[in-house]
Amino acid sequence: MARKDARELAREYFRQLGETGESEFYLPEESARAIRGSSGREVRAAAAPGRAQPAPRPAAGKPATATKAAPANAATKPAASNPAAPSTDAPDVEVVHVKLAFSSDATTGDMFSAGSGLEKCTTLAEVEASTAGCTKCELADGRNNVVFGVGNAGARLLFIGEAPGRDEDIQGVPFVGRAGQLLNKILEAAEIARDDVYIANIIKCRPPNNRTPLTNEIEACIPYLGRQVELIAPKIICTLGLPATQTLLGIRGSMGSLRGKMYVDGDVKVIPTYHPAAALRDPKYKRPIWDDFLLIKREYERA
Ligand code: URA
Repeated sequence: MARKDARELAREYFRQLGETGESEFYLPEESARAIRGSSGREVRAAAAPGRAQPAPRPAAGKPATATKAAPANAATKPAASNPAAPSTDAPDVEVVHVKLAFSSDATTGDMFSAGSGLEKCTTLAEVEASTAGCTKCELADGRNNVVFGVGNAGARLLFIGEAPGRDEDIQGVPFVGRAGQLLNKILEAAEIARDDVYIANIIKCRPPNNRTPLTNEIEACIPYLGRQVELIAPKIICTLGLPATQTLLGIRGSMGSLRGKMYVDGDVKVIPTYHPAAALRDPKYKRPIWDDFLLIKREYERA
């Protein structure tokens, strides 16, 4: 394998670790050897004997309080018994009661719109106008566009991703690149119209080389999202990937440990899932993403 290929492979590998919060992935021996050679870091080859241990990552917000876990609605049917067949029933999941960072009565609310001056904005257009020319972090230097968000201003369902990529930066619209195309396909399969939902990111400018957003970038940008959430007032929020999930919930952990649960704060439900980009890199994420979307669909229809 050429050295350049190995470096590219290594970049993707470590990006995937960051995206999911897993501490390791298991790769074919040839890929593992190439990554070891180019990065000097240990990478396991061959099939995983069990689940990887979650890597603790600092949450951008203060921790939410998990008060109680209770079984999901008893009317839910269990998933199909054949694990190979894609299920059409929403899985039974644990319900965790939390105080989300943007709750009006949350002690952690300071990170979102409080004190930002954005309370004066009473429409999404006003919030968007306030982002134009934003220089609160160094990402302003490299951007082509602020990627504010797109969709139905009164959406019951809000998707929150990580950060704009190259295509989004050029077009000024979230989720229009490869990950966005996969998201479109998943929405279509779940019979959820993209025009009916709202889509945003935790930060509004593209990080260099699509790296994971830094804590100071999230802290600088999050008041805009906070005000968007307040104005849209969605009933269901799906966080796509680890940075969005940890930021909203203020809980540490890997995606493997955080997804497959529904986090409830009053009448708002947060359902985390893997970022679609994870499924583009490794098809093993398609199945859990689909399970999460069945849950999203069920709650969306009830909302
Ligand atoms: N990935 C994201 O998290 N957001 C986008 O807008 C595009 C890709």
